[in-house]
Amino acid sequence: MSSILEIADFRAEGLRIGGAKVRTARTIDVINPYSGERVGTVGMASVEDVRRAMDIAKAYVPTLSRYERSAILNRAAALLRERTDEASNIITTESGLSKKDSIYEIGRVADVLNFGANEALRDDGQVFSCDLTPHGKKRKVITTRDPLLGVITAITPFNHPMNQVAHKVVPSVATNNRMVLKPSEKVPLSAYYFADLLYEAGLPVEMLQVVTGDPREIADELLIHPHVDLITFTGGVAIGKYIASKAGYRRMVLELGGNDPLIVMDDADLDKASDLAVQGSYKNSGQRCTAVKRMLVHEKVAAEFTERVVAKTKAWRYGDPMDKTNEMGTVIDEAAARHFEKVVNEAVAQGARLLVGNAREGALYSPTVVDRVRPEMTLVREETFGPVSPIMTFKDIDEAIRMSNGTAFGLSSGICTNRLDDATRFAKELQVGTVNLWEVPGYRIELTPFGGIKDSGLGYKEGVQEAIKSFTNCKTFTLPW
Ligand code: NAD
Repeated sequence: MSSILEIADFRAEGLRIGGAKVRTARTIDVINPYSGERVGTVGMASVEDVRRAMDIAKAYVPTLSRYERSAILNRAAALLRERTDEASNIITTESGLSKKDSIYEIGRVADVLNFGANEALRDDGQVFSCDLTPHGKKRKVITTRDPLLGVITAITPFNHPMNQVAHKVVPSVATNNRMVLKPSEKVPLSAYYFADLLYEAGLPVEMLQVVTGDPREIADELLIHPHVDLITFTGGVAIGKYIASKAGYRRMVLELGGNDPLIVMDDADLDKASDLAVQGSYKNSGQRCTAVKRMLVHEKVAAEFTERVVAKTKAWRYGDPMDKTNEMGTVIDEAAARHFEKVVNEAVAQGARLLVGNAREGALYSPTVVDRVRPEMTLVREETFGPVSPIMTFKDIDEAIRMSNGTAFGLSSGICTNRLDDATRFAKELQVGTVNLWEVPGYRIELTPFGGIKDSGLGYKEGVQEAIKSFTNCKTFTLPW
Protein backbone atom coordinates (compact mmCIF):
# COMPACT_ATOMS: atom_id res chain seq x y z
CA MET A 1 0.00 0.00 0.00
CA SER A 2 1.60 3.32 -1.04
CA SER A 3 1.42 6.20 1.41
CA ILE A 4 -1.56 8.42 0.81
CA LEU A 5 0.72 11.37 1.57
CA GLU A 6 2.73 10.66 -1.56
CA ILE A 7 -0.40 11.70 -3.45
CA ALA A 8 -1.99 14.37 -1.28
CA ASP A 9 -0.33 16.94 0.99
CA PHE A 10 -0.66 16.86 4.75
CA ARG A 11 -3.01 19.73 5.58
CA ALA A 12 -2.95 21.55 8.92
CA GLU A 13 -5.95 23.86 8.93
CA GLY A 14 -6.90 26.60 11.34
CA LEU A 15 -10.44 27.85 11.79
CA ARG A 16 -11.62 30.55 9.36
CA ILE A 17 -12.79 33.44 11.50
CA GLY A 18 -13.01 36.95 10.07
CA GLY A 19 -10.57 36.06 7.32
CA ALA A 20 -7.86 34.82 9.68
CA LYS A 21 -6.64 31.23 9.82
CA VAL A 22 -7.02 30.76 13.54
CA ARG A 23 -4.73 28.17 15.10
CA THR A 24 -6.06 26.58 18.25
CA ALA A 25 -4.19 24.95 21.14
CA ARG A 26 -6.14 21.73 20.64
CA THR A 27 -6.58 20.13 17.24
CA ILE A 28 -8.55 17.26 15.67
CA ASP A 29 -6.75 14.61 13.64
CA VAL A 30 -8.08 13.73 10.22
CA ILE A 31 -7.44 10.06 9.43
CA ASN A 32 -7.49 8.35 6.05
CA PRO A 33 -9.88 5.42 6.53
CA TYR A 34 -8.04 3.19 4.06
CA SER A 35 -4.44 3.59 5.21
CA GLY A 36 -5.05 4.70 8.79
CA GLU A 37 -2.59 7.55 8.19
CA ARG A 38 -3.06 10.97 9.72
CA VAL A 39 -3.57 13.20 6.69
CA GLY A 40 -4.27 16.48 8.40
CA THR A 41 -5.35 18.34 11.48
CA VAL A 42 -7.99 21.01 11.98
CA GLY A 43 -8.55 23.52 14.74
CA MET A 44 -10.74 22.63 17.70
CA ALA A 45 -12.86 25.69 18.32
CA SER A 46 -13.91 26.84 21.78
CA VAL A 47 -17.25 28.40 22.61
CA GLU A 48 -15.40 31.75 22.58
CA ASP A 49 -14.28 31.13 18.98
CA VAL A 50 -17.88 30.45 17.95
CA ARG A 51 -19.05 33.63 19.66
CA ARG A 52 -16.38 35.67 17.89
CA ALA A 53 -17.44 34.28 14.52
CA MET A 54 -21.09 35.07 15.32
CA ASP A 55 -20.24 38.65 16.30
CA ILE A 56 -18.20 39.24 13.14
CA ALA A 57 -20.99 37.81 10.99
CA LYS A 58 -23.73 39.80 12.68
CA ALA A 59 -21.80 43.09 12.49
CA TYR A 60 -21.21 42.76 8.75
CA VAL A 61 -23.70 44.12 6.26
CA PRO A 62 -23.35 42.39 2.87
CA THR A 63 -23.61 44.77 -0.05
CA LEU A 64 -22.77 42.57 -3.03
CA SER A 65 -24.89 43.20 -6.08
CA ARG A 66 -26.58 40.29 -7.82
CA TYR A 67 -23.94 40.53 -10.52
CA GLU A 68 -21.11 40.38 -7.98
CA ARG A 69 -22.56 37.36 -6.18
CA SER A 70 -23.07 35.58 -9.45
CA ALA A 71 -19.55 36.39 -10.62
CA ILE A 72 -18.00 35.07 -7.39
CA LEU A 73 -19.92 31.81 -7.64
CA ASN A 74 -19.09 31.32 -11.31
CA ARG A 75 -15.43 32.11 -10.65
CA ALA A 76 -15.35 29.55 -7.83
CA ALA A 77 -16.95 26.97 -10.15
CA ALA A 78 -14.32 27.59 -12.81
CA LEU A 79 -11.47 27.34 -10.28
CA LEU A 80 -12.89 24.13 -8.89
CA ARG A 81 -13.32 22.53 -12.30
CA GLU A 82 -9.69 23.40 -13.10
CA ARG A 83 -8.55 21.84 -9.82
CA THR A 84 -10.71 18.74 -9.95
CA ASP A 85 -7.84 16.38 -9.31
CA GLU A 86 -6.50 18.23 -6.27
CA ALA A 87 -9.97 18.79 -4.79
CA SER A 88 -11.09 15.21 -5.32
CA ASN A 89 -7.85 13.97 -3.72
CA ILE A 90 -8.81 15.83 -0.57
CA ILE A 91 -12.25 14.21 -0.49
CA THR A 92 -10.83 10.76 -1.12
CA THR A 93 -8.02 11.20 1.36
CA GLU A 94 -10.20 12.14 4.28
CA SER A 95 -13.30 10.03 3.53
CA GLY A 96 -12.03 6.89 1.78
CA LEU A 97 -14.50 7.48 -1.08
CA SER A 98 -13.11 6.23 -4.38
CA LYS A 99 -11.59 8.65 -6.87
CA LYS A 100 -14.50 7.83 -9.17
CA ASP A 101 -16.91 9.00 -6.48
CA SER A 102 -14.91 12.06 -5.47
CA ILE A 103 -14.37 13.25 -9.05
CA TYR A 104 -18.11 12.91 -9.59
CA GLU A 105 -18.71 14.90 -6.42
CA ILE A 106 -16.51 17.75 -7.61
CA GLY A 107 -18.63 17.98 -10.76
CA ARG A 108 -21.74 18.20 -8.61
CA VAL A 109 -20.23 20.92 -6.43
CA ALA A 110 -19.34 22.94 -9.52
CA ASP A 111 -22.95 22.51 -10.70
CA VAL A 112 -24.22 23.85 -7.38
CA LEU A 113 -21.97 26.89 -7.80
CA ASN A 114 -23.14 27.52 -11.37
CA PHE A 115 -26.81 27.09 -10.45
CA GLY A 116 -26.33 29.43 -7.50
CA ALA A 117 -24.73 31.98 -9.83
CA ASN A 118 -27.73 31.78 -12.17
CA GLU A 119 -30.23 32.08 -9.34
CA ALA A 120 -28.42 35.11 -7.95
CA LEU A 121 -29.22 36.90 -11.21
CA ARG A 122 -32.88 35.96 -11.09
CA ASP A 123 -35.17 38.31 -9.21
CA ASP A 124 -37.85 36.03 -7.81
CA GLY A 125 -40.04 38.88 -6.61
CA GLN A 126 -43.71 38.82 -7.62
CA VAL A 127 -46.20 41.50 -8.58
CA PHE A 128 -49.93 41.20 -7.75
CA SER A 129 -52.66 43.57 -8.92
CA CYS A 130 -55.15 44.30 -6.16
CA ASP A 131 -58.22 45.12 -8.30
CA LEU A 132 -59.11 41.46 -8.72
CA THR A 133 -62.38 41.33 -6.78
CA PRO A 134 -65.41 43.65 -6.34
CA HIS A 135 -63.85 45.17 -3.23
CA GLY A 136 -60.41 45.42 -4.81
CA LYS A 137 -58.38 48.61 -5.22
CA LYS A 138 -56.10 50.01 -7.85
CA ARG A 139 -52.95 49.07 -5.99
CA LYS A 140 -50.13 46.63 -6.49
CA VAL A 141 -48.41 44.24 -4.11
CA ILE A 142 -44.75 43.67 -4.86
CA THR A 143 -42.71 41.00 -3.07
CA THR A 144 -38.99 40.97 -2.44
CA ARG A 145 -36.77 38.36 -0.83
CA ASP A 146 -34.34 39.83 1.64
CA PRO A 147 -31.41 38.20 3.41
CA LEU A 148 -32.04 37.20 7.02
CA LEU A 149 -31.44 39.75 9.75
CA GLY A 150 -29.27 37.36 11.71
CA VAL A 151 -26.73 34.65 11.05
CA ILE A 152 -27.22 31.21 9.49
CA THR A 153 -25.70 28.22 11.26
CA ALA A 154 -24.93 25.35 8.90
CA ILE A 155 -24.01 21.86 10.10
CA THR A 156 -23.10 19.15 7.59
CA PRO A 157 -22.55 15.36 7.60
CA PHE A 158 -19.59 13.32 6.38
CA ASN A 159 -21.03 11.48 3.40
CA HIS A 160 -20.50 14.03 0.61
CA PRO A 161 -17.75 16.06 2.24
CA MET A 162 -17.84 19.01 -0.17
CA ASN A 163 -21.24 18.81 -1.79
CA GLN A 164 -23.15 18.90 1.50
CA VAL A 165 -21.21 22.05 2.34
CA ALA A 166 -21.84 23.56 -1.09
CA HIS A 167 -25.61 23.05 -0.74
CA LYS A 168 -25.57 25.24 2.37
CA VAL A 169 -22.94 27.82 1.44
CA VAL A 170 -23.91 28.59 -2.16
CA PRO A 171 -27.55 29.62 -1.50
CA SER A 172 -26.27 31.71 1.41
CA VAL A 173 -23.85 33.58 -0.85
CA ALA A 174 -26.46 33.91 -3.60
CA THR A 175 -28.80 35.65 -1.14
CA ASN A 176 -26.22 37.92 0.55
CA ASN A 177 -26.44 36.12 3.88
CA ARG A 178 -23.82 35.51 6.53
CA MET A 179 -23.10 31.93 7.52
CA VAL A 180 -21.10 30.16 10.19
CA LEU A 181 -20.42 26.62 9.01
CA LYS A 182 -19.51 23.62 11.11
CA PRO A 183 -18.64 20.73 8.80
CA SER A 184 -18.37 17.14 9.99
CA GLU A 185 -15.25 16.66 12.08
CA LYS A 186 -14.72 13.40 10.16
CA VAL A 187 -14.17 15.21 6.83
CA PRO A 188 -13.35 18.85 7.58
CA LEU A 189 -10.55 19.38 5.03
CA SER A 190 -12.91 19.59 2.03
CA ALA A 191 -14.92 22.29 3.77
CA TYR A 192 -11.87 24.48 4.43
CA TYR A 193 -10.74 23.96 0.85
CA PHE A 194 -14.15 25.02 -0.43
CA ALA A 195 -14.23 28.14 1.77
CA ASP A 196 -10.76 29.17 0.57
CA LEU A 197 -11.89 28.74 -3.02
CA LEU A 198 -14.73 31.18 -2.45
CA TYR A 199 -12.49 33.72 -0.73
CA GLU A 200 -10.10 33.45 -3.69
CA ALA A 201 -13.06 34.06 -5.99
CA GLY A 202 -13.81 37.28 -4.11
CA LEU A 203 -16.24 36.38 -1.32
CA PRO A 204 -16.03 38.78 1.63
CA VAL A 205 -14.64 36.74 4.51
CA GLU A 206 -17.41 37.83 6.90
CA MET A 207 -20.03 36.13 4.73
CA LEU A 208 -18.62 32.66 5.39
CA GLN A 209 -16.73 31.53 8.43
CA VAL A 210 -15.82 27.97 9.29
CA VAL A 211 -15.34 26.37 12.68
CA THR A 212 -14.55 22.78 13.57
CA GLY A 213 -14.57 21.25 16.99
CA ASP A 214 -16.08 18.79 19.39
CA PRO A 215 -19.85 19.03 18.97
CA ARG A 216 -20.29 18.27 22.68
CA GLU A 217 -18.52 21.56 23.38
CA ILE A 218 -19.63 23.90 20.62
CA ALA A 219 -22.82 22.56 19.05
CA ASP A 220 -25.21 24.16 21.52
CA GLU A 221 -23.61 27.57 21.04
CA LEU A 222 -24.07 27.21 17.28
CA LEU A 223 -27.74 26.41 17.83
CA ILE A 224 -28.81 28.87 20.50
CA HIS A 225 -26.50 31.87 20.10
CA PRO A 226 -28.79 34.91 20.00
CA HIS A 227 -27.45 36.06 16.60
CA VAL A 228 -28.65 32.84 14.93
CA ASP A 229 -31.82 33.22 12.86
CA LEU A 230 -31.75 29.93 11.00
CA ILE A 231 -30.19 26.50 11.47
CA THR A 232 -29.69 24.41 8.37
CA PHE A 233 -28.68 20.87 9.24
CA THR A 234 -28.05 17.72 7.24
CA GLY A 235 -27.31 14.54 9.15
CA GLY A 236 -28.86 11.75 11.15
CA VAL A 237 -32.30 11.69 12.73
CA ALA A 238 -31.08 11.60 16.33
CA ILE A 239 -29.11 14.83 16.06
CA GLY A 240 -31.80 16.41 13.87
CA LYS A 241 -34.37 15.83 16.57
CA TYR A 242 -31.97 17.11 19.21
CA ILE A 243 -31.58 20.30 17.19
CA ALA A 244 -35.37 20.61 16.88
CA SER A 245 -35.64 20.37 20.66
CA LYS A 246 -33.02 23.08 21.18
CA ALA A 247 -33.70 25.58 18.45
CA GLY A 248 -36.58 27.45 20.03
CA TYR A 249 -37.97 30.35 18.00
CA ARG A 250 -35.69 29.91 14.99
CA ARG A 251 -36.23 28.75 11.45
CA MET A 252 -34.90 25.27 10.80
CA VAL A 253 -34.14 23.22 7.75
CA LEU A 254 -33.54 19.59 8.76
CA GLU A 255 -32.45 17.08 6.10
CA LEU A 256 -32.20 13.74 7.88
CA GLY A 257 -31.82 10.04 7.21
CA GLY A 258 -33.49 7.82 4.66
CA ASN A 259 -34.46 4.20 4.13
CA ASP A 260 -35.18 4.36 0.43
CA PRO A 261 -36.66 1.44 -1.49
CA LEU A 262 -36.06 0.38 -5.05
CA ILE A 263 -39.34 -1.28 -6.03
CA VAL A 264 -39.20 -3.83 -8.83
CA MET A 265 -42.54 -4.91 -10.32
CA ASP A 266 -43.07 -8.18 -12.19
CA ASP A 267 -43.09 -6.51 -15.62
CA ALA A 268 -39.73 -4.81 -15.12
CA ASP A 269 -36.73 -5.24 -17.40
CA LEU A 270 -34.59 -7.03 -14.82
CA ASP A 271 -31.29 -6.16 -16.41
CA LYS A 272 -32.08 -2.47 -16.17
CA ALA A 273 -33.55 -2.85 -12.67
CA SER A 274 -30.52 -4.74 -11.35
CA ASP A 275 -28.21 -2.07 -12.81
CA LEU A 276 -30.10 0.56 -10.87
CA ALA A 277 -30.04 -1.67 -7.79
CA VAL A 278 -26.26 -1.99 -7.63
CA GLN A 279 -25.58 1.62 -8.59
CA GLY A 280 -28.07 2.87 -6.04
CA SER A 281 -26.64 0.62 -3.36
CA TYR A 282 -22.88 0.95 -3.80
CA LYS A 283 -22.09 4.37 -5.27
CA ASN A 284 -20.46 6.60 -2.68
CA SER A 285 -19.87 3.40 -0.68
CA GLY A 286 -23.61 3.22 -0.05
CA GLN A 287 -23.31 6.33 2.10
CA ARG A 288 -26.00 8.49 0.58
CA CYS A 289 -29.12 9.52 2.40
CA THR A 290 -30.88 8.39 -0.79
CA ALA A 291 -28.94 5.18 -1.36
CA VAL A 292 -31.07 2.11 -2.08
CA LYS A 293 -31.43 0.68 1.41
CA ARG A 294 -34.17 -1.85 0.66
CA MET A 295 -34.95 -3.72 -2.57
CA LEU A 296 -38.63 -4.60 -2.69
CA VAL A 297 -39.14 -7.12 -5.48
CA HIS A 298 -42.26 -8.84 -6.82
CA GLU A 299 -42.06 -12.50 -5.78
CA LYS A 300 -42.56 -13.68 -9.38
CA VAL A 301 -39.27 -12.12 -10.49
CA ALA A 302 -37.32 -12.15 -7.22
CA ALA A 303 -35.12 -15.17 -8.00
CA GLU A 304 -34.01 -13.87 -11.39
CA PHE A 305 -33.54 -10.31 -10.13
CA THR A 306 -31.48 -11.54 -7.16
CA GLU A 307 -29.26 -13.62 -9.40
CA ARG A 308 -28.46 -10.57 -11.50
CA VAL A 309 -27.83 -8.37 -8.49
CA VAL A 310 -25.45 -10.97 -7.04
CA ALA A 311 -23.52 -11.23 -10.32
CA LYS A 312 -23.23 -7.45 -10.64
CA THR A 313 -22.23 -7.15 -7.00
CA LYS A 314 -19.41 -9.64 -7.49
CA ALA A 315 -18.18 -7.55 -10.42
CA TRP A 316 -18.26 -4.29 -8.43
CA ARG A 317 -14.58 -3.47 -7.88
CA TYR A 318 -13.66 -2.14 -4.49
CA GLY A 319 -10.45 -1.52 -2.60
CA ASP A 320 -7.79 1.23 -2.62
CA PRO A 321 -9.79 4.46 -3.04
CA MET A 322 -6.96 6.11 -4.99
CA ASP A 323 -7.01 3.34 -7.62
CA LYS A 324 -9.11 4.81 -10.39
CA THR A 325 -10.23 1.41 -11.59
CA ASN A 326 -12.06 0.78 -8.32
CA GLU A 327 -15.72 1.70 -8.19
CA MET A 328 -15.77 1.82 -4.42
CA GLY A 329 -13.34 2.71 -1.64
CA THR A 330 -13.90 2.35 2.08
CA VAL A 331 -16.76 3.43 4.28
CA ILE A 332 -16.15 6.31 6.64
CA ASP A 333 -14.39 4.36 9.37
CA GLU A 334 -13.86 0.93 10.86
CA ALA A 335 -16.63 1.44 13.42
CA ALA A 336 -19.15 1.93 10.60
CA ALA A 337 -17.90 -1.18 8.77
CA ARG A 338 -18.17 -3.22 11.97
CA HIS A 339 -21.73 -2.01 12.41
CA PHE A 340 -22.74 -3.26 8.93
CA GLU A 341 -21.10 -6.61 9.67
CA LYS A 342 -23.06 -6.82 12.90
CA VAL A 343 -26.50 -5.98 11.47
CA VAL A 344 -25.98 -8.37 8.54
CA ASN A 345 -24.91 -11.17 10.93
CA GLU A 346 -27.90 -10.43 13.11
CA ALA A 347 -30.25 -10.64 10.10
CA VAL A 348 -28.66 -13.94 9.04
CA ALA A 349 -29.15 -15.30 12.56
CA GLN A 350 -32.82 -14.35 12.21
CA GLY A 351 -33.28 -16.24 8.94
CA ALA A 352 -31.93 -13.95 6.19
CA ARG A 353 -29.56 -15.46 3.62
CA LEU A 354 -26.15 -13.94 2.88
CA LEU A 355 -25.52 -14.31 -0.87
CA VAL A 356 -22.30 -12.34 -1.29
CA GLY A 357 -20.12 -9.99 0.73
CA ASN A 358 -20.11 -9.05 4.40
CA ALA A 359 -16.29 -9.22 4.28
CA ARG A 360 -14.48 -6.55 6.26
CA GLU A 361 -10.90 -5.41 6.53
CA GLY A 362 -10.52 -2.25 8.60
CA ALA A 363 -12.86 0.29 7.01
CA LEU A 364 -13.10 -1.67 3.76
CA TYR A 365 -16.46 -3.38 3.61
CA SER A 366 -17.41 -5.43 0.58
CA PRO A 367 -20.65 -4.88 -1.35
CA THR A 368 -23.15 -7.23 0.23
CA VAL A 369 -26.39 -8.90 -0.85
CA VAL A 370 -28.78 -10.48 1.61
CA ASP A 371 -32.20 -11.90 0.75
CA ARG A 372 -35.08 -13.42 2.73
CA VAL A 373 -35.05 -10.20 4.71
CA ARG A 374 -38.10 -9.28 6.78
CA PRO A 375 -39.25 -5.75 7.62
CA GLU A 376 -38.69 -6.12 11.36
CA MET A 377 -34.95 -6.84 11.01
CA THR A 378 -32.67 -4.02 12.18
CA LEU A 379 -30.93 -4.17 8.80
CA VAL A 380 -33.98 -2.61 7.12
CA ARG A 381 -35.97 -1.15 9.98
CA GLU A 382 -33.13 1.27 10.71
CA GLU A 383 -31.01 3.12 8.18
CA THR A 384 -28.01 1.00 7.13
CA PHE A 385 -25.68 3.69 5.82
CA GLY A 386 -23.37 1.47 3.78
CA PRO A 387 -23.07 -0.83 0.72
CA VAL A 388 -25.64 -3.45 1.68
CA SER A 389 -28.46 -4.69 -0.57
CA PRO A 390 -31.25 -6.30 1.45
CA ILE A 391 -33.81 -7.99 -0.81
CA MET A 392 -37.41 -8.45 0.30
CA THR A 393 -40.36 -9.77 -1.69
CA PHE A 394 -43.99 -8.74 -2.04
CA LYS A 395 -47.08 -10.34 -3.59
CA ASP A 396 -48.78 -7.32 -5.12
CA ILE A 397 -48.62 -3.55 -5.37
CA ASP A 398 -50.67 -3.04 -2.19
CA GLU A 399 -48.10 -4.94 -0.19
CA ALA A 400 -45.23 -3.09 -1.92
CA ILE A 401 -46.72 0.26 -0.96
CA ARG A 402 -47.39 -0.92 2.60
CA MET A 403 -43.82 -2.16 3.00
CA SER A 404 -42.37 0.97 1.50
CA ASN A 405 -44.37 3.21 3.82
CA GLY A 406 -43.77 0.96 6.81
CA THR A 407 -40.70 2.69 8.24
CA ALA A 408 -40.24 5.96 10.09
CA PHE A 409 -38.48 7.46 7.06
CA GLY A 410 -39.83 9.13 3.94
CA LEU A 411 -37.02 10.46 1.77
CA SER A 412 -37.02 9.08 -1.77
CA SER A 413 -37.75 5.98 -3.86
CA GLY A 414 -37.03 4.35 -7.20
CA ILE A 415 -39.65 2.46 -9.21
CA CYS A 416 -39.08 -0.14 -11.92
CA THR A 417 -42.25 -0.77 -13.90
CA ASN A 418 -43.59 0.13 -17.34
CA ARG A 419 -47.23 0.04 -16.27
CA LEU A 420 -48.64 3.52 -16.07
CA ASP A 421 -51.37 2.57 -13.59
CA ASP A 422 -48.84 1.16 -11.14
CA ALA A 423 -46.42 4.04 -11.65
CA THR A 424 -49.23 6.49 -10.94
CA ARG A 425 -50.22 4.67 -7.75
CA PHE A 426 -46.62 4.74 -6.49
CA ALA A 427 -46.29 8.42 -7.33
CA LYS A 428 -49.47 9.17 -5.37
CA GLU A 429 -49.27 6.76 -2.47
CA LEU A 430 -45.63 6.51 -1.45
CA GLN A 431 -45.03 8.70 1.61
CA VAL A 432 -41.75 10.19 0.45
CA GLY A 433 -40.26 13.42 -0.85
CA THR A 434 -39.35 11.96 -4.27
CA VAL A 435 -40.55 9.17 -6.57
CA ASN A 436 -38.16 8.39 -9.45
CA LEU A 437 -39.52 6.16 -12.20
CA TRP A 438 -36.72 4.05 -13.71
CA GLU A 439 -34.05 5.84 -11.77
CA VAL A 440 -32.21 5.37 -8.49
CA PRO A 441 -33.81 7.14 -5.51
CA GLY A 442 -30.76 9.43 -5.37
CA TYR A 443 -31.31 10.91 -8.83
CA ARG A 444 -31.81 14.67 -8.95
CA ILE A 445 -30.13 17.76 -10.25
CA GLU A 446 -28.63 20.24 -7.83
CA LEU A 447 -31.16 22.93 -8.67
CA THR A 448 -34.38 21.04 -8.04
CA PRO A 449 -36.28 20.67 -4.74
CA PHE A 450 -34.95 17.85 -2.62
CA GLY A 451 -35.85 16.54 0.82
CA GLY A 452 -37.96 14.14 2.80
CA ILE A 453 -40.97 13.88 5.06
CA LYS A 454 -41.66 11.97 8.31
CA ASP A 455 -38.32 11.35 10.07
CA SER A 456 -36.40 12.22 6.89
CA GLY A 457 -36.80 15.94 7.11
CA LEU A 458 -38.55 18.98 8.46
CA GLY A 459 -39.01 22.45 7.09
CA TYR A 460 -38.08 23.67 3.65
CA LYS A 461 -36.52 21.42 1.09
CA GLU A 462 -32.97 21.76 -0.21
CA GLY A 463 -31.75 22.14 -3.78
CA VAL A 464 -30.44 25.56 -4.72
CA GLN A 465 -33.80 27.13 -5.53
CA GLU A 466 -35.67 25.96 -2.43
CA ALA A 467 -32.73 26.72 -0.16
CA ILE A 468 -32.79 30.29 -1.45
CA LYS A 469 -36.41 30.54 -0.35
CA SER A 470 -35.59 29.20 3.08
CA PHE A 471 -32.65 31.58 3.52
CA THR A 472 -34.67 34.72 2.80
CA ASN A 473 -37.50 36.71 4.32
CA CYS A 474 -40.32 37.52 1.94
CA LYS A 475 -41.38 41.15 2.27
CA THR A 476 -44.33 42.77 0.53
CA PHE A 477 -44.64 46.41 -0.51
CA THR A 478 -47.98 47.76 -1.59
CA LEU A 479 -48.06 50.77 -3.84
CA PRO A 480 -50.91 53.05 -4.90
CA TRP A 481 -51.02 52.34 -8.64
P1 NAD B 1 -24.51 12.90 12.14
O1 NAD B 1 -25.92 13.21 12.46
O2 NAD B 1 -23.76 11.96 13.01
O3 NAD B 1 -23.63 14.26 12.12
C1 NAD B 1 -23.99 15.35 11.33
C2 NAD B 1 -23.37 16.61 11.87
O4 NAD B 1 -23.93 16.91 13.15
C3 NAD B 1 -21.87 16.56 12.06
O5 NAD B 1 -21.31 17.77 11.60
C4 NAD B 1 -21.74 16.46 13.57
O6 NAD B 1 -20.54 17.02 14.07
C5 NAD B 1 -22.90 17.32 14.02
N1 NAD B 1 -23.31 17.14 15.41
C6 NAD B 1 -22.96 16.16 16.28
N2 NAD B 1 -23.57 16.35 17.49
C7 NAD B 1 -24.32 17.47 17.36
C8 NAD B 1 -25.19 18.17 18.23
N3 NAD B 1 -25.42 17.76 19.47
N4 NAD B 1 -25.80 19.28 17.78
C9 NAD B 1 -25.60 19.70 16.52
N5 NAD B 1 -24.79 19.08 15.64
C10 NAD B 1 -24.16 17.96 16.05
O7 NAD B 1 -24.53 12.40 10.63
P2 NAD B 1 -23.36 11.77 9.80
O8 NAD B 1 -23.05 10.43 10.38
O9 NAD B 1 -22.26 12.75 9.58
O10 NAD B 1 -24.11 11.59 8.37
C11 NAD B 1 -24.91 10.51 8.08
C12 NAD B 1 -26.38 10.83 8.24
O11 NAD B 1 -26.75 11.98 7.50
C13 NAD B 1 -27.27 9.71 7.71
O12 NAD B 1 -28.32 9.48 8.59
C14 NAD B 1 -27.78 10.25 6.40
O13 NAD B 1 -28.97 9.68 5.96
C15 NAD B 1 -27.91 11.70 6.73
N6 NAD B 1 -27.96 12.49 5.49
C16 NAD B 1 -29.13 13.10 5.11
C17 NAD B 1 -29.20 13.80 3.92
C18 NAD B 1 -30.45 14.49 3.46
O14 NAD B 1 -30.36 15.40 2.64
N7 NAD B 1 -31.63 14.11 3.91
C19 NAD B 1 -28.06 13.89 3.11
C20 NAD B 1 -26.90 13.26 3.52
C21 NAD B 1 -26.85 12.57 4.72
